[in-house]
Amino acid sequence: MKKPLHPATIAAHAAGALDPQSGGVVPALQPSTTFLRDEDYALVRPDNIYSRDNSDNLRQAEAVIRALEHAQDTLLFPSGMAAIAAVFRALPNRATAIVQSGIYWGTTAWVRDFCARREISLIEVPAADLITTCQGQAADLVLIETPSNPWLLTVDIAAVKAATKGLLLVDGTAATPILTRALDHGADIVMHSATKAINGHSDVLAGVLSTAAPETGVWQAIKADRKMAGAILGPFEAWLLTRAMRTLPLRVERMSQNALALAQHLMAHEAVADVFYPGLPHHSGHDIALRQMQGGFGSLLSVLVKGGRTDALRVTGKLDLFLRATSLGGVESLVEHRHTIEPHTGIPENLIRVSTGIEHIADLIADWDQALA
Ligand SMILES: *Cc1c(COP(=O)(O)O)cnc(C)c1O
Repeated sequence: MKKPLHPATIAAHAAGALDPQSGGVVPALQPSTTFLRDEDYALVRPDNIYSRDNSDNLRQAEAVIRALEHAQDTLLFPSGMAAIAAVFRALPNRATAIVQSGIYWGTTAWVRDFCARREISLIEVPAADLITTCQGQAADLVLIETPSNPWLLTVDIAAVKAATKGLLLVDGTAATPILTRALDHGADIVMHSATKAINGHSDVLAGVLSTAAPETGVWQAIKADRKMAGAILGPFEAWLLTRAMRTLPLRVERMSQNALALAQHLMAHEAVADVFYPGLPHHSGHDIALRQMQGGFGSLLSVLVKGGRTDALRVTGKLDLFLRATSLGGVESLVEHRHTIEPHTGIPENLIRVSTGIEHIADLIADWDQALA
């Protein structure tokens, strides 16, 4: 057997995607929604019928993520939220779900609404209490997010898996499949908003689910629902994603180096009260991150400036290179004042969430220094 390839090699080669028809070293973009049958009414390509089921471009992008995740099956969706929703929709009515609190606000808001409508009993638990809750309470589904957005808390995936008999769904968006392969740590399904670092160029909205156990009933239900209900990624987005992922390991490596250097610099700055980043030794999730993350701690950090709301907004307003915009994981650095977006969830008013891009670190540090001065 051939030696398994390294992630950088798999990504650079787009898991072997080529264009056999033209001989191109890049796969063709095929936008057709429907596919031919021959004179005997047999499909010209048995795997291509109609593009709500599948398409070559979708399969190419899924093959890259499947290999990077050590998964057996991978499904792309038109957004990260569509991927999360697909898992919850596979739950029976009146199921029980344990969901980590203080995670991506869009997830919390949608899950609360959905569970109420389906009479699913929803137990929201802080990261620190997940293991005891899972040990004491039977659940059909457990959803964790590590590192969490925007608190940057880390959760021990293997320990949660050992504490529950329920399906373990891990949102690994901030870690990417490069820094944490959640399936190797025991996750049943790993989800990413591919809109973030997986695409990394702030120009594709996409979500993805992967599993090491594609024969399970829940995975088959998710797969059937994607096809029948039509929550599928279009071929152009899939093609862009395949192209972007060629540099995923490179981008994640540089973003993580930049984020760590910036976190260390800001932690030592007199105008900064605290920095949440799993790579900093004083951070509560550092030990788990050391065990569970490889090659870096990701691009996301949160900075608590000294003072309150007006001080945080003044600093974000003075930043030049860090664009004031939501989202994370792109090549360009972004900042967001999360309290403005979710004023009711306990986010500190002096917190600035930072997504570190691939710019030169000296420029990024200089920008923060002038904004904090
Ligand atoms: C952005 C994000 C999502 C939602 O993904 P979309 O692609 O925006 O639908 C879910 N979880 C986390 C951690 C995110 O950052």
